Amino acid sequence: MRRAVFPGSFDPITLGHVDIIERGLPLFDEIILAIGTNSSKKYLFSLEKRLEFLENTFKNEPKIKVTTYSGLTVDFCKEIEAKFLLRGLRNGIDLEFEKAIGQTNYKMEEIETVFLIASSGLEHISSTVVRDVMQHGGKYEFMVPDEVRK
Ligand code: ADP
Repeated sequence: MRRAVFPGSFDPITLGHVDIIERGLPLFDEIILAIGTNSSKKYLFSLEKRLEFLENTFKNEPKIKVTTYSGLTVDFCKEIEAKFLLRGLRNGIDLEFEKAIGQTNYKMEEIETVFLIASSGLEHISSTVVRDVMQHGGKYEFMVPDEVRK
């Protein structure tokens, strides 16, 4: 079973995430969308809400499971027997950041990270920008899936 974990805060899930997840589907038998819980981080959406957005967005995709985890991502991968992480790369900043984490995860537990480059036209989308626009009453609808728009 080729199982991958796509970890993130998903605060909220965006069309950028959806694109990477959907493009990851042909590569894996199962993709686990895992919301990392970090008690010291402040979120706009509650964990319940973020879970609901993910579950509803992918309710018709049997290869996708949604869950939460705490602690090291590689420990969670081992626990559920996933050998791969799936991540998206928008730009050089993402690359530099992800490179160190990917190398560390491989050294620690031989968990391989599969990186997909953001699709053209979606690389400007980030949860941070979406949250900022939402909080100031701007137009965010074109950056998020239907379930977040509702
Ligand atoms: P975190 O909370 O870990 O910062 P994010 O939700 O920001 O997580 O991102 C999770 C993953 O999704 C990362 O690999 C990030 O690069 C990727 N990602 C986020 N937005 C996009 C996008 N617009 N296109 C491609 N990948 C993206």
